[in-house]
Amino acid sequence: MSNTSYNPYLTAQAQFDKVAEQLGLDEATRELLRQPMREYHFTIPVRMDDGTVRVFKGYRIQHNDARGPAKGGIRFHPDETADTVRALSMWMTWKCAVVDIPLGGGKGGIVCDPRILSEREQEQLCRGYVRQLARNIGPNNDVPAPDVMSSAKHMLWMLDEYETIHGGRYPGTITGKPVGQGGSLGRTEATGFGVIYVLREALKRLGIKPENTSASIQGFGNVAQYAARMYSQLGGKIIAISCWDNTDKKPYTFRKADGVDVDELVSITDAFGSINKEKAKELGYELLDGEAWIEQDVDILIPAALENQITSENVHKISKQVKIIAEAANGPTSTEADKVISDRGIFLIPDFLANAGGVTCSYFEQVQNNMNYYWDKDEVLSKLDRIMTAAFNSVYDLSVGRDLRMRDAAYTIAIERVVRAVKSRGWA
Ligand code: NAD
Repeated sequence: MSNTSYNPYLTAQAQFDKVAEQLGLDEATRELLRQPMREYHFTIPVRMDDGTVRVFKGYRIQHNDARGPAKGGIRFHPDETADTVRALSMWMTWKCAVVDIPLGGGKGGIVCDPRILSEREQEQLCRGYVRQLARNIGPNNDVPAPDVMSSAKHMLWMLDEYETIHGGRYPGTITGKPVGQGGSLGRTEATGFGVIYVLREALKRLGIKPENTSASIQGFGNVAQYAARMYSQLGGKIIAISCWDNTDKKPYTFRKADGVDVDELVSITDAFGSINKEKAKELGYELLDGEAWIEQDVDILIPAALENQITSENVHKISKQVKIIAEAANGPTSTEADKVISDRGIFLIPDFLANAGGVTCSYFEQVQNNMNYYWDKDEVLSKLDRIMTAAFNSVYDLSVGRDLRMRDAAYTIAIERVVRAVKSRGWA
């Protein structure tokens, strides 16, 4: 989205086509899986605080639901496009399949900038979104969740609108709800922690001790903050973190050569993941340009912001020291950059494996909603760790066994599982 000429849907399709070819999938199956099954495009009129009506554009796209109800977040972003949502819905199908949870893939988006909307306007937008979709989402067909710039607060407004329309309590309609209102403990941490559970396993397999490593992270929102916390707990040292600055309308990198203090940085970060520049300078952080995160001499890079951030233009800036890239964001690496990374022998943990912790915990949330019985945080996180570790090990073993790159091994496992479901239902 940061680069208007980039189309993530084409990247998602190219990744699928490559593995479909390797697996020798028939034409009908390819045709079915290389595009979404269903799409909803609609307008959402909102009466703004100044009395005028503004019309927003909304999307909900269901890529595939052969393995279970479609599942995926709703993003709020001024540059959201149908193709971004299509790509993300497709990645959700592979994500749920690679961790083997009984869900399909979907995604939603609203073209908006919540940073400049009042609370009331945001609530109206959330309710308006659900009014357009109330018959097409639900616990048994498509289950939304938060994503970029959307949060538990938004999810509860959406659920409330859905329940008002349908006249009942259906907590499993939306996940990522606040704890105490049907939300699961551990959901806020799940994606970021999950990234580090698989990174920990990768380090084990590569014979590297986490306490001997350093990292640079792009983004400092929900995913990055918890990834940073868990990585620090393992003993790793974070040298640099970048984020978007909405005043200057550009990203900056915050660097501390002897390691950043994650809690300190969180305390000067707003709800949208932007670090306060002035306060950071006072605390001794060097302020570098937004791209600087990628060229640090570190062992691990964690892109955790948006798609298409490692491209043919900046991939050559990656330091020789980098051994692992853990893709916490969805689709952070362009196809061209991916090839360079592979040729350089950098171990890459692909997005839909690395960041599957969020949807896995969302699945736990639904399970708890269905039972109306809630687990404690340790139980949630230990279940999450088991699933992420098992998924990583299957992908790693396949990649070694068949001499595949990690991304292709993850795709192979995910696509084979989805194809089995599609074929056994007689869809292809
Ligand atoms: P968020 O909105 O909480 O944070 C996004 C962060 O990226 C912010 O710190 C923002 O300042 C930063 N950012 C934006 N543009 C930037 C740029 N050009 N350079 C540097 N930083 C920039 O979002 P999030 O929930 O943390 O999601 C981050 C990524 O992880 C997205 O790709 C999202 O789709 C993916 N993801 C999120 C979840 C989840 O549970 N939240 C689950 C799976 C995948």
